[in-house]
Amino acid sequence: MLATSLKSVLVLQLALGFISSVSGEQQVFQAPSSASVTSQLDSAVKEKIAIIGAGAGGSSAAYYLQKYSDYNYDITVFERNDYVGGRTTTVNVHDDPRWPVELGASIFVKENLNLMAAVKEFSLDLKATDLGRVKRMDNITVDDSFGIWNGQSFIFDAPSDSSWKNIGKMLWRYGISPIRARNLAKKSVGQFLKYYSPVYFPFKDLTDTVEDSGLVELTSQSTVQYFSEHGISDLFTSQIIQAATRVNYGQNTRNFQALEALVCIAADEGLNINGGNWQIFDSMLKSSAADIRLNTAVSEISAASDSGKWTIITDTGSEEFDQIIIAAPYHQTNIKGLALPIKEVQYMTLHVTLIASTKRLSPKYFGLQDSAVVPTMVLTTMPEKGASHMPPLFNSISITKFIPELNQYVYKIFSSSRITPSFLQLLFESGAEFPWIYEKVWKPYPRMDPLSQFQNWKVDEGGIWYLNGIEQFISTMETSSLAGANVAALIVGDTNKTIISVP
Ligand SMILES: Cc1cc2nc3c(=O)[nH]c(=O)nc-3n(C[C@H](O)[C@H](O)[C@H](O)COP(=O)(O)OP(=O)(O)OC[C@H]3O[C@@H](n4cnc5c(N)ncnc54)[C@H](O)[C@@H]3O)c2cc1C
Repeated sequence: MLATSLKSVLVLQLALGFISSVSGEQQVFQAPSSASVTSQLDSAVKEKIAIIGAGAGGSSAAYYLQKYSDYNYDITVFERNDYVGGRTTTVNVHDDPRWPVELGASIFVKENLNLMAAVKEFSLDLKATDLGRVKRMDNITVDDSFGIWNGQSFIFDAPSDSSWKNIGKMLWRYGISPIRARNLAKKSVGQFLKYYSPVYFPFKDLTDTVEDSGLVELTSQSTVQYFSEHGISDLFTSQIIQAATRVNYGQNTRNFQALEALVCIAADEGLNINGGNWQIFDSMLKSSAADIRLNTAVSEISAASDSGKWTIITDTGSEEFDQIIIAAPYHQTNIKGLALPIKEVQYMTLHVTLIASTKRLSPKYFGLQDSAVVPTMVLTTMPEKGASHMPPLFNSISITKFIPELNQYVYKIFSSSRITPSFLQLLFESGAEFPWIYEKVWKPYPRMDPLSQFQNWKVDEGGIWYLNGIEQFISTMETSSLAGANVAALIVGDTNKTIISVP
C-alpha cells in the first residue's frame, strides 16, 4: 500500500490530493435551462462584469457568478489566445485530432472538489492518467516503471506493479520518513479542506485564512526546514520529495515552501479528461452564457469619467463595465493604465518538449547496461553534495502515449532550458528519428519561496478583483478554480439568490 501510494505520488503530476470530501451541507446548485437563461438575460439591465482570461480561474469566476446569482450578471470574457483554457490546453500529435496530449496542466485528482463537480455536471469523460504507461499493439500495458535519476545513475526505481518488495525497499531505505510525510500531507489536506466549508468560504482575505487555518506554518517554511523539523530524513527529502517538487513545480526543495511539497505527495491517483482537461473550463464558460471574446487582448483599463465604471480597451475598441476580474498573472498581461497594487511575482520558465519516436531512451545515457530498459517515467533529483558529475539537464521525461498505428511512443520532457537536437541524439537509442517534435515555453507557476502574506482579492475598492495571488499559496487548476468561485461569491455577496457554496 505504502509503495503504491508513494510510487503513484511520484509518477503522477499531482495537483491537490483531497483525502476526503468536505463535510457539512454542501449544495450543488443546478444551472437553469438555457431557455430560462436567455429569458433572464433579456429581461433586466444587469451589472456588467468583465473577466480577463479564460483559464481555470476566469472560467470558474464566470460559472460561479451565474450560479450564485441565478444568472444575474452580464459577463464578457476577454481572452488573448484563440482558445479557452489558458495553461490547460492540448496539442495533437502529428496534427492529428485522434491523438491529443496535454501541453500544460495534465492531472487532477478525485478530491479536487470544484473540478470533479464540473466533470459530473457536464458529463465529461474522466479517465485515469496514462503518463508513463505504455500500451502496446495488443492494448496491454507493459513495462511501466519509474526511476529517479541524479544525472549519473538511478538512485531509486520501481516497477509499476507495486509489491511487498517495493514496500520493503522503501522502508529499508528511508525508515519511517515516507509514513511521516504522508501523514503530514493528510493533515494539511484536512486543514485546506476547510476552505471549501462555510467555516471559511468565501474568504475575504487569503492571508488571514492561511493564518487561521494553520497553514501559514507550512507556507512560511522551506520544505527542507519543515520536513527536517518533523522527523523526515534529509535523504528522503532530497531524493523522493525533491523528485516530486521538480516534476510538479520545476524547483528543488531547499527554498521551496513546504505546503506545496506536501501537495505533491497528497494524492494517490491522477485523473484527466479524455480529449483534454480544457473541456472543464470550456463547459463552465458555455454554461455561464458569457460573451466570450477570443483573440482579444485587453491592453488598458481606465476609470470611466464620473460614472464609477471602468473602461476596458482592446485592439477592437473600448467598453464600460461595473466590475472587472483579472484572471491571469497580472505582470504577464501587459495591461496598462491603472497602477494597481499587485505585487510582481517571479514565475518559473518551463520548456515542454513533446516528441514522437519509435525508439526508447538510451540505457547508456542513463548509466545503465546496454540490455536494460530505461523506465517509462524518469524523474530527477540533484547530485549528492560533493559529487563531480553534472546535475540532470531536464526535470522529467515520461512516455505519455503510445500510437499503435505508427508504432511510436510520445515522450514529454520538462526542462528549464531548450532541449537541443544534439541532446536528443544522446538521450535516445542510436538511430532514433523524431518524426514529430513540438516545443512550448511556459511561465507555468510562480517561484514558490516561503511566504506568509498573500495578495488581496480586491485590488481596487471600485470593483477590480485579482485571482492569481492564490498561485503563491498553491498553484493548480483546482486552486485557480477555487479563487474564481471565491471572488464570485464575494461579488455576489448579500444579493445572492441561491446558496453560496463550493463545489
Ligand atoms: C506545463 C504545465 C503543467 C502543469 N501541470 C499541472 C497539473 O498537472 N495539474 C494542475 O492542477 N495544474 C498544473 N499546472 C498549473 C495550472 O495550469 C495552472 O495553475 C492553472 O491552469 C492556472 O489557471 P489560471 O486561469 O489562473 O491562469 P491561466 O490558465 O494562465 O489563464 C489566464 C488566461 O489569461 C489570458 N490573458 C493573459 N493576459 C491577457 C490579456 N491582456 N487580455 C486577455 N487575456 C489575457 C491568457 O491567455 C490565459 O488564457 C501546470 C501548468 C503548466 C504550464
